[in-house]
Amino acid sequence: MQIPYEFLGKIFVLMLFLALLGTGLALLIGAYSFKKHRIIFPDFVLFTLYLFYSPAKWICRVFRIRGTLVDDILIDVRNAVMYDDFLNIKGRRMLLLPQCLRHPSCKARCDPVYGYECKRCGLCDIAKLCDAADRCNFKVFVVPGGSFVKKIFKEYRPEACLGVACYNELSENMQAVSFVPVQGVLLLKDGCFNTEANVEEIIQKMEMCNV
Ligand code: SF4
Repeated sequence: MQIPYEFLGKIFVLMLFLALLGTGLALLIGAYSFKKHRIIFPDFVLFTLYLFYSPAKWICRVFRIRGTLVDDILIDVRNAVMYDDFLNIKGRRMLLLPQCLRHPSCKARCDPVYGYECKRCGLCDIAKLCDAADRCNFKVFVVPGGSFVKKIFKEYRPEACLGVACYNELSENMQAVSFVPVQGVLLLKDGCFNTEANVEEIIQKMEMCNV
């Protein structure tokens, strides 16, 4: 039997066209939701933008739109969709912080499973966040990377998660742990070193759980 290369080629081009069209549509709806703070078709937006994450970034580049818009949409829509569930969890809740928030002179030891054990020396904002987490019944983990998130989920088995990270890490990790109610807060200043977080916003999210 002869392989119909021409027909298969046409099918491939059609599927590519439909995928780009769907991605563009999800971007438009997501951008509208993000700007107007009115979430519409959240499942379609999340599913399509996670599936076609790289093409969505490519579309942004082509139309000279900032590439972080894709992550902004994913974080914002996920936060909106899971907010009520997150507030209702009264069991094990955890706050995940990136290790780049630590002060350069931090003396905390890194546990191979749970990450850095903050001594609350006060040199960086993590001490303040640990105090607030105690008041709000959250367990804090300061992690060096995504592999620690998996280990912590396996050992601690949280029922809700509040994460802090930079754009692409936050949207990726929120998707990875979305089997529990999750909320995300973006870093104010990212990078691999000496980063800054919106401490008030993080504390506010934890306090809302106790209202
Ligand atoms: S507050 Fe904690 S994380 Fe920050 S520098 Fe001190 S020990 Fe390290």
